[in-house]
Amino acid sequence: MREGSKKAFLCVRNTNKLKSPPHRKIGSKGKEFCVCQIKVVEAQAVNIFNTKRNLMYLSKTPPFIQNLFPNFVWKVDTEEKELFLTFDDGPVPEITEPVLELLNDYDAQATFFCVGENIVKHPDTFRRVLAAGHQVGNHTFNHLNGWATENIPYFHNVRHCAKLVKSDLFRPPYGKLKRKQAQFLQRHYAIVMWDVLSGDFDPNKTADQCFQSVVQHAKRGSIIVFHDSMKSKNKLLNILPRVLDHFSELGYQFKALTPTVLHRKRLSRIA
Ligand SMILES: [Zn+2]
Repeated sequence: MREGSKKAFLCVRNTNKLKSPPHRKIGSKGKEFCVCQIKVVEAQAVNIFNTKRNLMYLSKTPPFIQNLFPNFVWKVDTEEKELFLTFDDGPVPEITEPVLELLNDYDAQATFFCVGENIVKHPDTFRRVLAAGHQVGNHTFNHLNGWATENIPYFHNVRHCAKLVKSDLFRPPYGKLKRKQAQFLQRHYAIVMWDVLSGDFDPNKTADQCFQSVVQHAKRGSIIVFHDSMKSKNKLLNILPRVLDHFSELGYQFKALTPTVLHRKRLSRIA
């Protein structure tokens, strides 16, 4: 690197040049970034993305967040009118079973990201999910927050769930994974996130608002998140039939995230 270009690339955050290691340049499509700045942007993105716990969340995952984690599955790149409904946190009979009936009414397939301890409590409901031909994915055994859990216990918890959920799909609870956790898990799983969050878990959001949000943001290939949990039960049972009805009327089909979908279709890296 020429001296001139080094100078032009001094990082504004590197205020203590004696103690700080030299920052390096990352070139991408003619653009230049500092790794330091990349990390800052990434931290901001993850903070935005993970404010769900504080109920300040994004109904539509913006492309720049999807670009920061290009190895995750955010949506399916398809020309077909198809949507990918996903249900997190079950199985819980009081809500998962009515969901199965609704999906059956619309000839819809879906993907259920199951919590291991709920499978232990409700094995019959889990069997019904599988018997109906839906896909299942690992959502850890105890619905762990990756940021708040050391790596090894986190991996053990995933493995504990994997004994019950035979699947190549993994979705981290709260969307929270440390980088090392993500790096390790994506060797074994397709890490499935989403591009549309229904907000069915949000007590400040009405069912109408959740429905309108899904209608506004869902597009061909969208992966949409709902929760088959008691907390979301009333809202989900209100909005799910409306979502199924609305998009069926528009000619959409509802598909599960099968290996065929994940491997034959080119997964979109950006929205
Ligand atoms: Zn969850």
